[in-house]
Amino acid sequence: MNADAPIVIVGTGLSGYSLAKEIRKQDKDTPIVMVTADDGYSYSKPMLSTGFTKGKEADELAQASSDTMVEQLNLQLRTHTTVTGIDPDAHELVLGDERLPYGKLVLAWGADVIRLSIAGDGHERVFSINDLMDYRAFRKALKGKKRVAIMGAGLIGCEFANDLRNGDVDVDVIAPSDALMPGLLPPAAADAVRDGLEGLGVRFHLETVVEHIANNGDGVRLTLSNGEELDSDLVISAVGLRPRTELAAAASLETRRGIVVNRALETSMPDVYALGDCAEVDGHVLLYVLPLMACSRALAKTLVSERTEVKYGTMPVMVKTPCCPTAVCPPPANASGTWEVDADGQDVRALFRSESGEVLGFAVTGAYAMEKQALSKEVPPIHG
Ligand code: FAD
Repeated sequence: MNADAPIVIVGTGLSGYSLAKEIRKQDKDTPIVMVTADDGYSYSKPMLSTGFTKGKEADELAQASSDTMVEQLNLQLRTHTTVTGIDPDAHELVLGDERLPYGKLVLAWGADVIRLSIAGDGHERVFSINDLMDYRAFRKALKGKKRVAIMGAGLIGCEFANDLRNGDVDVDVIAPSDALMPGLLPPAAADAVRDGLEGLGVRFHLETVVEHIANNGDGVRLTLSNGEELDSDLVISAVGLRPRTELAAAASLETRRGIVVNRALETSMPDVYALGDCAEVDGHVLLYVLPLMACSRALAKTLVSERTEVKYGTMPVMVKTPCCPTAVCPPPANASGTWEVDADGQDVRALFRSESGEVLGFAVTGAYAMEKQALSKEVPPIHG
C-alpha cells in the first residue's frame, strides 16, 4: 500500500459531493480523487421530481459543472469512468485495464433502479429516472408529447405524477398495491394523497400490473393484467431501487440489503467506507438525503481527524405532492402499536402509538402537514 495514496471517493451524487465538501471544511489539502460513471454535474436529486412545478428544464436543475466542482473543492475528478472492481488487499480500484491506488476508499455509488422484465416491443419509450442524465433523456423524449404512464405508486411515482400534472401532462399510474406508497404511509394518509392527485386529474389503476408494452407507432399501448388497455406516449418505471452491492460483494466486502457498514461507516475491509444509497448503516438502508448528510459529516471527521460515529436523529420524509402536502416518519419495522387517525377530508393526522402510549411514528397530510416539526420532537431518534 502506498502511504501517499489519496482518499478516493466513487460517485458524485449527493453523498460523494457532500463528503468532499465536509472534508474540505476541515482540511484544504489532503489529496482527494473522485471517480464517477456520469458527467460529474452537481445537482440535487430530489429536484428531479419537481421540474415542471418549479418550471425548470433538465439543464436548469444542474447546479455546477464538474470543472466548477474541481475548482471549488480542490480535487481531481474523473468523469465517465466506471469502476469495475476493488482490490482491497492491494488498496487499488480497478477501472477496466487500469488500477488506481487509494489510501482510503469511499463507496458512494448509489442504488440501481429495478427493471421489470415485461413482454412487448415498446421498451425504448420506457424511462427510469434516477439521475440527471436519465431526466435529461426523459424531458427530451417528452417534447411535444402529452401522455405519460407511470408504473409504481411509491413515493417517486406519486411525486412524478403530481409534477407532470403541474406540467399539464396526462398521467396514468399503474401499481399492484391497493393504496399509494404502501409501507410508507398508513391507509388514511395514502387515501388523502390519492384524493389530491385524482383532484389534479391523475388516473390510478391499482391492484393490477403492466403485462405487455407494445410500440404502436408514435407511442405505446399497455396491456394490464386486469385486461385493461392504455395508450400513452411514454412510460416512467418507478418500481423501486436496489443498493449497488455487486462489486463490493465480488471484493468480499460484507453485503446484505446494502454494503454493510457500522456507525463509523466502515465496511468489513480496512480503509474502505460506504455511505448514501449503497450503504446499510448499522442495519438501516435509508434512501434519503438527511441520513447521507449526517453520514458525510461523521465520515469526513473520521477521514481527516478522529474516528466518529454517525448518530441518526428523527428524520421525517417530505413527500413532494403539493396537491396534498405530506410528511411521514414511519415507525420502526418491528414496532408494535396501532395507528390513531384524525381525518377531515385531505387533512389527516395519523400517529403510531406503542401500547404504553409513546408516539413511535406519524404521517400528516394537508393542513396537518405543518405539525411535522412538532411531531418529530415526540418520536424517538433512530439511534437512541
Ligand atoms: P447517487 O446520486 O445515485 O450517486 C451515485 C453516483 O455513483 C453517481 O455519480 C454514479 O455515476 C456513480 N456510480 C455508480 N456506479 C459507479 C461505478 N461502478 N463506477 C463509478 N461511478 C459509479 N430523498 C429525500 O430525502 N427527499 C426527497 O425529496 C427525495 N426526492 C427524490 C426524488 C427522486 C426522483 C429520486 C430518484 C430520489 C429522491 N430522493 C429524495 C432520494 C435521494 O435523492 C437519494 O437518496 C440521494 O440523492 C442518493 O445519493 P447518492 O450520492 O447516494 O447516490
